[in-house]
Amino acid sequence: MNFSYYFLLIGVPLIFGLWAQFRVSSTFNRYKKVSTASGLTGAQAAQQILSASEIHDVSIVAIDSMLGDHYDPSKKQLSLSTDVFYGNSISAVGVAAHECGHAIQHKAHYPPLHWRNTIVPATQFSSQILPFVLLGGFFFHLTNLITLGIACYAVLMVFQLITLPVEFDASSRAKLILQKMGIIHTPSEIRGVNAVLDAAALTYIAAFIAAVGNMIYLLMVRRDSR
Ligand SMILES: [Zn+2]
Repeated sequence: MNFSYYFLLIGVPLIFGLWAQFRVSSTFNRYKKVSTASGLTGAQAAQQILSASEIHDVSIVAIDSMLGDHYDPSKKQLSLSTDVFYGNSISAVGVAAHECGHAIQHKAHYPPLHWRNTIVPATQFSSQILPFVLLGGFFFHLTNLITLGIACYAVLMVFQLITLPVEFDASSRAKLILQKMGIIHTPSEIRGVNAVLDAAALTYIAAFIAAVGNMIYLLMVRRDSR
């Protein structure tokens, strides 16, 4: 197989992923410096959104992990990074509202969120064994291991595919609810929140494309090894 396939299937998605990551952090940092007119912190905004959505059993905690914000459905816990938890910026309320979007999905039994949670153990197992599978497959030219690698990437691909509606839906819920509750209202605030959340969406698209690229590449490797 020639190098151009490798570049197209592995290199291009990798570059796209790095660019998306860079855009998330640069957009987040840009709007971290812009305070909202309402002055609410991410934690306060999250508390108000959860209350307005009649969610009273979800706790909001601060975590020391930049852009590590997430909602854990098993613990019913919304973890916000310190910039988001304590900050009263466009970035802070945007990310906080997005994570609330996941808590609202959970309460509303939004099917893709349920599918994603179901596939999490298989996804974790696949990503843990993948490095060994690939190493063994390429090093010893074991076709069975390459096939196992293809299966692992298939699991990751399905996971990333299900992640897309989950993330897009959480962001559109966030954009709506922030405006509806008056947490943001000026056109420039709306533009800022959109920029932060849309940048984050790109990373999920990049992760999906990377899984697809890796899987096709391995399929071609297996075909050539026969
Ligand atoms: Zn999310």
